[in-house]
Amino acid sequence: MDRTNGISPAEILQRLIQHDTTNPPGNERPCIEYIAGLLESAGLETTVLSSSEDRPNLVARLPGLGAAPPLLMYGHADVVTTAHQSWTHPPFAGKLIDGYVWGRGALDMKGGLAMMIGAILRAAVDRVTPAGDVLLAVLADEEAGGVHGARFLVEEHPETFVNVRYAIGEFGGFPLRVAGRTFYLIQVGEKQPCWLEARITGPAGHGARPMRDGAMATLGHILTRLNRRRLPVHITPIVRAMIESMATALPPAKRFVLRRLLNPTWTDRILSRLGETGRNLEPLFRNTVNATLVRGGDKPNVIPSEIVLGLDARLLPGFALEDLLAELRPVLGAQVEFDVRLYEESAVEPDFGLLDLLGGLLRRAEPDAIPIPYLLPGSSDARFFSRLGIQTYGFTPMNLPADFNFFETIHAADERIPAAAVDFGADALLRLIERYAG
Ligand SMILES: [Zn+2]
Repeated sequence: MDRTNGISPAEILQRLIQHDTTNPPGNERPCIEYIAGLLESAGLETTVLSSSEDRPNLVARLPGLGAAPPLLMYGHADVVTTAHQSWTHPPFAGKLIDGYVWGRGALDMKGGLAMMIGAILRAAVDRVTPAGDVLLAVLADEEAGGVHGARFLVEEHPETFVNVRYAIGEFGGFPLRVAGRTFYLIQVGEKQPCWLEARITGPAGHGARPMRDGAMATLGHILTRLNRRRLPVHITPIVRAMIESMATALPPAKRFVLRRLLNPTWTDRILSRLGETGRNLEPLFRNTVNATLVRGGDKPNVIPSEIVLGLDARLLPGFALEDLLAELRPVLGAQVEFDVRLYEESAVEPDFGLLDLLGGLLRRAEPDAIPIPYLLPGSSDARFFSRLGIQTYGFTPMNLPADFNFFETIHAADERIPAAAVDFGADALLRLIERYAG
């Protein structure tokens, strides 16, 4: 994409990176004000909505014909810390070196944000009038739970998103190369985070007296069972569509193996045969639980009567908290009590309605691309927008080179993105705005 009002999408990214929005504390205001200035220079109307002075969110609107529901594009302006990381180039300089824009947020997700800003700027300057309004929301606080960002907007300003059905967000549009094919993942759903605390009790006692079958022993049994057992396999609609579309593009022998993943009696055997790919795919096939915290005991010579075990569980879309608890019961044992510390429901049924349009845009830009739907094992701001019935697609297209590992670079040192990939994504999003007809 050429410069719009004197700036290209990759240059926008450089400027975004130069605003240090490490969260905590976030301090997104200067970055948001910079973006507001850019958008207003192209005649776009902007609104700032904030729960606190330093944590604003920005909403811009490109008016459409009113013949289709509004289309939402959203991205977060905050980034994760760079503490204790050793960087080749300074993380907040936004330098362009050897064709890459370097810095914290280049991938997650100031790169995607720069694409969205570049696309809507160009659409405004070129006086593009899509069928429905296009909204751009620039959000604070995604990396620390969205309290000041997406959650605040959804809870306090739902009127901003009236009639929105589809949204474009992060985690999708990048290539995954398997067996000589280039798949582009388009995120259609994500797992639901659920943090639990299990309370394990037993008799207290003096450290000098032998204690058997106390709380410590129960903890040991539970950890051993968590390590050995796997929760049941479930085939959900997004994963079925993902595996089917991958299988169709692969040679017959590989196609056969991949399709067997969709038969729960075979899933685990195939996953272990697939090695690292299998380990990456496993969370898409089951609710998962990991022990992450243990609290208990005060003194070396006192046997504790209570131990609290923290668990990080992730539920497949379409599953409820009770489903998870029923699956966990046999692993944890009947005598253990739970507290649910956090459960963030992703409420929306997957709606594949925009998938063909997005896939078509990718194939047009990159003829070898095979677009496939994707389920994110983690979570993003999409879970908040789902409460308003909004289906998010992770779609910030990047034509990354084959030797570039997207997942290893996110949140890590030397985060960077090819400048050409930012322009590539901005072009694809501009075409989306032009083609959006609801
Ligand atoms: Zn992100």
